Amino acid sequence: MLFQSFLIKYGEIGIKGKNRYVFEEALMKQIGHALQPVEGSFSVSREQGRIYVDADGDYDYDEAVLALTRVFGIVGICPLVRVEENGFDQLAKDVLKYLDDVYPDKNKTFKVVSRRARKNFPKNSQEINADLGEIILDTYPEMKVDVHHPDIMLNVEIRSQVNIYSMIIPGPGGMPVGTAGKAMLLLSGGIDSPVAGYMIAKRGVTIEATYFHAPPYTSERAKQKVIDLARIVSRYSGPIKLNIVNFTDIQLYIYDKCPHDQLTIIMRRYMMKIAEHFANESGCLGLITGESIGQVASQTMQSLAATNAVCNMPVYRPLIGFDKNDIIAISEKIDTYETSIQPFEDCCTIFVAKHPVTKPNLKIIERSEQHLNEKIDELMEVKPEIIAMDATISKRPGNKTLDEFFKEAKEKYPDQILMADISDYQEGIQAWKSGI
Ligand code: ATP
Ligand code: MG
Repeated sequence: MLFQSFLIKYGEIGIKGKNRYVFEEALMKQIGHALQPVEGSFSVSREQGRIYVDADGDYDYDEAVLALTRVFGIVGICPLVRVEENGFDQLAKDVLKYLDDVYPDKNKTFKVVSRRARKNFPKNSQEINADLGEIILDTYPEMKVDVHHPDIMLNVEIRSQVNIYSMIIPGPGGMPVGTAGKAMLLLSGGIDSPVAGYMIAKRGVTIEATYFHAPPYTSERAKQKVIDLARIVSRYSGPIKLNIVNFTDIQLYIYDKCPHDQLTIIMRRYMMKIAEHFANESGCLGLITGESIGQVASQTMQSLAATNAVCNMPVYRPLIGFDKNDIIAISEKIDTYETSIQPFEDCCTIFVAKHPVTKPNLKIIERSEQHLNEKIDELMEVKPEIIAMDATISKRPGNKTLDEFFKEAKEKYPDQILMADISDYQEGIQAWKSGI
């Protein structure tokens, strides 16, 4: 492999003054985490305010670059050739070899940008630029100098070693995870919440997640989909602890006792309460949801206010002003989209009313919840099933088919009306065949 090292450029974190050390440490840790599943052995080091990744022996270049493009805090990844410093003549030879290896087609414009951290090098940077430029022009006559918009910005840095690089692969920006506290993501199987988690993680926040499922109304496959989504988000955010909460009894109880047009809001309020409870226990500083104004009945300003009213913690809604198309574009970019659109039921869609309130009145909602008070406290003492998600783990337990799941649900709850949340004709037929 031509490039045995990478120079990592970081943006925002460079300006953090005294805290710079903390940010660099977090960035190095996240780089190490991201490279773990990549074939090869890597070391991450810091030297004079720069971060380097060095590969020890053979490694998978494409995979390593892909992993690095997912580390928040990185703005540029520069594949690097590092050579020993042995005077100017040797430097010129190394630079010519670099150009020959990296650019077989010499029909290119270039500019040399040299920096000299070792001041006892015999030439200053301007002399190096000029002299190297001349040697390059003599050796490769097809190449031309362009100081304004060169095809090749050839960086030559003379330090204890010499760094040569000319490519900068863009990183995702943001802040390294682990520099901004922790927050609890309410993670469903939909398109929005994984994107919301990604966006908050991008600001340096460590993510923990809670998923509410309602077996047997929601299947193992719906749960697996959420586990898969957490795993995809963890490629960026680092490990995610996923709390899986059995919400069935609470949901059935609410279904039984409350006006059906208020079901979604009341369920959402209990989800928030339970998530906040876990968030407090694990030291989170806020909740995260994938809501955006007006997307559905439970996301009107009035509904959001009613949901918000049960929480003491700040609720972060990074998608609040986004259109669905904007959210889909991000989910495609981060690779959650294909998983999110798998047609497995969500515990909200199963218990949803035909005509939910769109402008809930908090007083009325609270009055409805009074019917729940005695028993709900007992039901709320739920213990989550916990799964630690790591980018390096990929386990897929055997799944039930949708058909098996609905048959089981019908046997267990013969009187319960089952509703299929379908997105096309074929799914409708499948649901009908399953007895719904
Ligand atoms: P998403 O695409 O994230 O599912 P949505 O557009 O379907 O969102 P809702 O179903 O109203 O919207 O949910 C709003 C938010 O509530 C979600 O973004 C998510 O943060 C949270 N949420 C909804 N259902 C669940 C669930 N079963 N478990 C955990 N969180 C949930
Ligand atoms: Mg949803």
